[in-house]
Amino acid sequence: MTPANLAENAIDTGAQHIRDSIRDAIVERRLAPGTKLSENDVGGLFNVSRTVVRAALQALSYEGLVTVEKNRGAFVAYPSVAEAQQIFATRRLIEPGLLREAARHLERRHIKELRALLAEEERLTSERGPSARRAEIKASGDVHLALAAITGNAILQRFMDELIARSSLVIALYGQSVASSCGHAEHHQIIDALENGDVEAACKLMLQHIDHIEADLDLRAKKSGDLKDVLRL
Ligand SMILES: [Zn+2]
Repeated sequence: MTPANLAENAIDTGAQHIRDSIRDAIVERRLAPGTKLSENDVGGLFNVSRTVVRAALQALSYEGLVTVEKNRGAFVAYPSVAEAQQIFATRRLIEPGLLREAARHLERRHIKELRALLAEEERLTSERGPSARRAEIKASGDVHLALAAITGNAILQRFMDELIARSSLVIALYGQSVASSCGHAEHHQIIDALENGDVEAACKLMLQHIDHIEADLDLRAKKSGDLKDVLRL
């Protein structure tokens, strides 16, 4: 590897770490929509150059999680009501097809893994405190991502990563339920149908599930925490 390549690589690794941290904070709803992500603050918190920070913020803007405004800097995206509806409309188009594809690749071990995820989700629900709550929110999205992983299609997985992250952002902004917006009972029913080989029932349940998540939204915005606190640095 040439020195130039090494430098490139260091930027990539650093940027990826920052991207993942900020992305997790958005997905777990610790960073609220509209929060300012100053290059100086982020660079200082992670102890990296502005070049690395810019690369991370750029990557997040491609995923629709961050908005970069000329002369104003970067912010956690603030999806509109129309965008929120488009995200769920997209999920309704994608996730039944994803389930059919997952069913074709489904093995016993997958069912076991999905059940373990649901058990973890339930365990976290019974716990109290903000960190358990955050972990529970993440776990509920993980079930959808685990279904995508079964397909073995990396493009579909990345697409779902983006959709689930964007959904979390929308739920952070418009969610009104105290509980996680993914119902545990519904997750169980979907996995049951898959296990029984009833793919059509699983697809129907998934569509209802997405409808329920969307029906849980309203137009009240939530407040954000401090950047340093939410990233736990
Ligand atoms: Zn769900």
